[in-house]
Amino acid sequence: MTSGAGDPLAEAAPRPVWWEGRERTAPEPLVGATTADLVVVGGGLTGLWAAIVALDEAPGRRVVVLESGHVGAGASGRNGGFVSDSLTHGLSHGVATWPSELGELVRLGRQNLREIDDFVADEKIDADFRLCGKTTVATRPHEVEALRRLAGLQREHGEESTYLTAEQVRADVDSPTYLAGLRTTVGGLVDPVALTLGLRDAAVRRGAVVHEASPVMRMERDGTVLCVTPSGAVRADQVLLATNAFKPLLRRLRSYVLPVWDHVLATEPLSAEQLARIGWRENQGLTDAGNQFHYYRRTPDDRILFGGYDAIYYFGNGSDAAKEQRDASHRLLARHLRETFPQLSDVRITHRWAGMIDTTSRFTPVFGTAMGGRVAYAVGYTGLGVAASRFGARVGLDLLAGRETERTAVPLVRRRPVPFPPEPLRWPAVQVTRAALAREDRTGRRGRLLRTMDRFGVGFNS
Ligand SMILES: Cc1cc2nc3c(=O)[nH]c(=O)nc-3n(C[C@H](O)[C@H](O)[C@H](O)COP(=O)(O)OP(=O)(O)OC[C@H]3O[C@@H](n4cnc5c(N)ncnc54)[C@H](O)[C@@H]3O)c2cc1C
Repeated sequence: MTSGAGDPLAEAAPRPVWWEGRERTAPEPLVGATTADLVVVGGGLTGLWAAIVALDEAPGRRVVVLESGHVGAGASGRNGGFVSDSLTHGLSHGVATWPSELGELVRLGRQNLREIDDFVADEKIDADFRLCGKTTVATRPHEVEALRRLAGLQREHGEESTYLTAEQVRADVDSPTYLAGLRTTVGGLVDPVALTLGLRDAAVRRGAVVHEASPVMRMERDGTVLCVTPSGAVRADQVLLATNAFKPLLRRLRSYVLPVWDHVLATEPLSAEQLARIGWRENQGLTDAGNQFHYYRRTPDDRILFGGYDAIYYFGNGSDAAKEQRDASHRLLARHLRETFPQLSDVRITHRWAGMIDTTSRFTPVFGTAMGGRVAYAVGYTGLGVAASRFGARVGLDLLAGRETERTAVPLVRRRPVPFPPEPLRWPAVQVTRAALAREDRTGRRGRLLRTMDRFGVGFNS
């Protein structure tokens, strides 16, 4: 990718492309004391789905959403917008981790995606929600065989899945790095900010009150739960924590979730002639097949969004906003984008950003309750939460209601992931695991460390 001075990032604005041209309304922080039936902490997809579902279940319920920044400030407003039907962080991981329950998890995941599709249509949310499937590409020889195996697995589970040779995949999207491809029809793409803001509006239409610039500093229990912000407090019968990778309000969650920074670039809009150089007529999302993978897609205005690969964990759960701009990670991505599409060397990179992914050792969320069942949490989607966040929100509400449902019955919900070690062990453990994953990507061999971790059902992903 280019720029006049030869620096590919020289013209890149330090913010997510999804917010381009979108005005944010002035925040209305919580001021003073109030009461609610349900407080939702976190104004991302999980929190907003929770507010919507809670109000659809019981219209008239007093639901207050408390968001520390603005709606969509977290991962929901800065992700790639890939929508997946998977609740298990992909089918292969599902087979490895939940072999006997996989059929049920696949069913629940597809039902979740169908219901999102219906909701977006019914509420007329203009979010470019398209179930266009995706293509996974092999860029290293050993990944070719892995794609063939995955094609078989997907077909076993009822997915239309087509293995493509190098020529076939390049006839569709032309990159000299592609050695094979796998085109699936399940899942798709969305404009994540349009979806998040659409859900906010849907929640407000149902009666939810959303306070931005209202960080919950602590929760106090005295029969009910008091959620305290800098300028107010809400006394609530129930609280749902939807705080993703941010510093959790419950100490116990620190051992289950660690924040991993995932980096993203976007280009200027491509002209029809530039697009013709690479094809990509079906406009689906693409990912490559390694442990450290890229994800990329066209935006509704035909930019290329290109993210992933370099997932960074900072010592001590580093989560301050300054970490959004990591030069080395963005430059690496710029180089990879150039290598993927050398035909587009004249296209400028216009945006660079990062966001925190809530990683668990099992790559699937952790659910539970606290404070005598008045507080529930749903966090830990490990980079695949655009669709799964709705499932997570529903589980959180099930737990608060104390009801047993098809969702709470699955071990993925009932059983917790293995906790991460505390610092000072956490950081080196992540680095050693990352190095082992990178080695597997280079060599195609899963080393002893990773095989041992597989046996204990633990890993590191983004
Ligand atoms: C760069 C990037 C790319 C991604 N790409 C994809 C993708 O393509 N597909 C996919 O499925 N997933 C993707 N993900 C993951 C996906 O975005 C998340 O799983 C999903 O958005 C989680 O939604 P959430 O509401 O749980 O969390 P968030 O959107 O992070 O919302 C949590 C909110 O809680 C607020 N908060 C935190 N603490 C407090 C507090 N104490 N008081 C009040 N508010 C608080 C935060 O400000 C934040 O707004 C990506 C994530 C990142 C970072």
